[in-house]
Amino acid sequence: MKLEIRNVTKRFKDKMAVNQFSMELETGQCVGLIGPNGAGKSTLIKIIADILNADEGEVVLDGKRISKMKREIGYLPQFPNFFQWMTARENLLFMGQLSGISKKRLIEDIPTILTKVGLTGEQNRKVRTFSGGMKQRLGIAQALLHKPALIVMDEPVSALDPIGRREVLNLIQEIKKETTILLSTHILSDAEEICERFVIIKNGTKIEDTTMTELISRNHEPVVYVKITPKDHFWTQLV
Ligand code: ADP
Ligand code: MG
Repeated sequence: MKLEIRNVTKRFKDKMAVNQFSMELETGQCVGLIGPNGAGKSTLIKIIADILNADEGEVVLDGKRISKMKREIGYLPQFPNFFQWMTARENLLFMGQLSGISKKRLIEDIPTILTKVGLTGEQNRKVRTFSGGMKQRLGIAQALLHKPALIVMDEPVSALDPIGRREVLNLIQEIKKETTILLSTHILSDAEEICERFVIIKNGTKIEDTTMTELISRNHEPVVYVKITPKDHFWTQLV
């Protein structure tokens, strides 16, 4: 699998949300898309998931333009939306059929996927009783229904309490053994734990494509990073 983002630009009226952004992603990688609020992460993630159209540029998967209809890329929105009065299993059955998977295949696959995300024991609970972490795990289950080679995740742990955050980070650690991941976050330490490579975006523009080792070796560049605690190496906010 090879994903190529080629010179993607997106404007909202006169606001340039993503500006001539390019990057590549290959099988087995887990890449953090890091940037402060308003940097353009969600816009870019939605363009990759084909939820939004780019004004310029293109997203190419294995040489072909991506298309939501083919569901080649799993998408985890920042706040996954479920039918609150339906159970976890009913939600997956319903959403899966809406996205074109047969009921027969869903009935076969859902138990395995629920086990993978650690929700087997909760499958008959209504989603309205779920914690934030459980909803994110169900969102990951939904993104996995089409068995995509790549999942894009938009701030999957940013809004969670410490317990939910731990659950979801542990799950992502498991998922990344089988699936390529692009994970957006404004909190560097979230990505630091699970990603090897970091693409840093600011004002819609890519400003870095680097590794943690490389970042640590040149943490004296205060233009980009601010050190807050020794543990955090740098900051958690781009200046
Ligand atoms: P991030 O996810 O990094 O916080 P976003 O991609 O949500 O950033 O937003 C990038 C910029 O585009 C911000 O300035 C934001 O206000 C603007 N923006 C995002 N979506 C819209 C929209 N639907 N309409 C107008 N402006 C938007
Ligand atoms: Mg966002």
